[in-house]
Amino acid sequence: MYIQCSHKELSILKKIAQAATGLQVPCYLIGGFVRDSVIGRNTKDIDIVCIGDGIALAHAVAKLFTPKPVVNYFKNFGTAQIKILDDEIEFVGARKESYIYESRKPQVEAGTLKDDQDRRDFTMNALAISLNQEDFGELLDPFNGIEDIKQKIIKTPLPPAQTFIDDPLRMMRAIRFAAQLNFTIEEKTFDAIGENKERIKIVSGERIADELNKILLCKKPSMGFDLLYKSGLLKIIFPQMVALAGAEYIDGKGHKDNFYHTLQVVDNIAEHTDDLWLRWAAVLHDIAKPATKKFEEGHGWTFHGHEVLGGRMVPKIFAQLKLPQNEKMRFVRKLVELHLRPISLTKENITDSAIRRLLFDAGDDFDSLMALCNADITSKNKQKVKRYLENFEMVRQRCAEVEASDQVRNWQPPITGELIMETFNLPPGRVVGDLKNAIREAILEGDIPNEYEAAFNFMVQKATDLGLFYKA
Ligand code: ATP
Repeated sequence: MYIQCSHKELSILKKIAQAATGLQVPCYLIGGFVRDSVIGRNTKDIDIVCIGDGIALAHAVAKLFTPKPVVNYFKNFGTAQIKILDDEIEFVGARKESYIYESRKPQVEAGTLKDDQDRRDFTMNALAISLNQEDFGELLDPFNGIEDIKQKIIKTPLPPAQTFIDDPLRMMRAIRFAAQLNFTIEEKTFDAIGENKERIKIVSGERIADELNKILLCKKPSMGFDLLYKSGLLKIIFPQMVALAGAEYIDGKGHKDNFYHTLQVVDNIAEHTDDLWLRWAAVLHDIAKPATKKFEEGHGWTFHGHEVLGGRMVPKIFAQLKLPQNEKMRFVRKLVELHLRPISLTKENITDSAIRRLLFDAGDDFDSLMALCNADITSKNKQKVKRYLENFEMVRQRCAEVEASDQVRNWQPPITGELIMETFNLPPGRVVGDLKNAIREAILEGDIPNEYEAAFNFMVQKATDLGLFYKA
């Protein structure tokens, strides 16, 4: 066997070979499984291509296992899947594809193994291993994929422009594989991405989001984003991020290039967490800097309010990138909005009430926020980095102390809206909200303790000022 695989996988492959022999259908292991086992990476799905009916082969394979696995099949596509323990196995008949310009959905007809390898996206993904009796385990590598893996090069099997024009998603896949595997995209192939970048517009937003997320989950996401930027794809799919690039100079004073700063922050956070949404918060933390940028005499460059505007941009960008509009988005928005707050607390004479407010606003996401702030330190000056980190450590300590005494993280004010309505016989409306806010503010400011009785008395006082009637 050319590749390395586990004992369990080898026994599955042997059963597939046995079923194929019974049907007299040549069959091959192909694609990502072969690539990853050559590289020595964790393998995932097993893809099998046969010269014949893939669905019939899946049924024949299923019969050889007890208990017999369910066969999920799609007649229209000629594909079938079975699951054996943790392994997903996908079966398909070898096919030849031809594309029309407007669509990434090909016309498909039955083909040879070579036809099937021709339609694969990269030489490393076109590797096949024979599962046939006469040459079980032999590698079929018509495009020198093994050599490209050794050289860590991503190349298309056919002329790159054709591969990318046929299915432009492959441009994103090339960059994603480069980032995941730390491979280089061959120059000719990379140039073809630049030349055909506009074709990305026929790919669905969901597919693009899927690739962006995979890039963002890499060990060093900057590599993928930089390739997206340099190829011109990023400008089409995510122009707001490209707007961060470059530095402007007035009177000899420049600002940092916020695109590369952002990439550094993303790499920093990636060292700390695998959480996709915290990584998105890093991508978006400065997204409103271009829109808020000003040159102020005597001050230099300012980006006032970029965190507020940035927070507002998050739902729109999530919608545009087909990312979810749920609590994940709200988490990202909150972190973008709050990302400057811990910095503002590193000054001297910070009151407990300012600390309480940060704890209250960040709630459960306090640790994520502090991780983002640490990642946001990208200065090359070691002394400065040390000072900033120490400052944040001080903020953390103050927060821990205030939290220990006041418990404001995840805190719910002791007086609910219902109680206010009941007490003053009020219908739901603005006055109820105003009273609730006033109580919350008084507690956060430290004017009254975080206790029911004090809050109740404060509410009665406030309501009397407003002319509301309370009967004890
Ligand atoms: P991953 O699981 O990390 O996405 P993979 O290579 O296994 O990597 P799949 O999407 O599972 O990716 O695809 C399996 C195989 O199908 C690939 O290895 C490749 O041979 C082929 N393939 C997938 N998508 C395309 C595409 N858009 N164009 C051409 N071939 C493709």
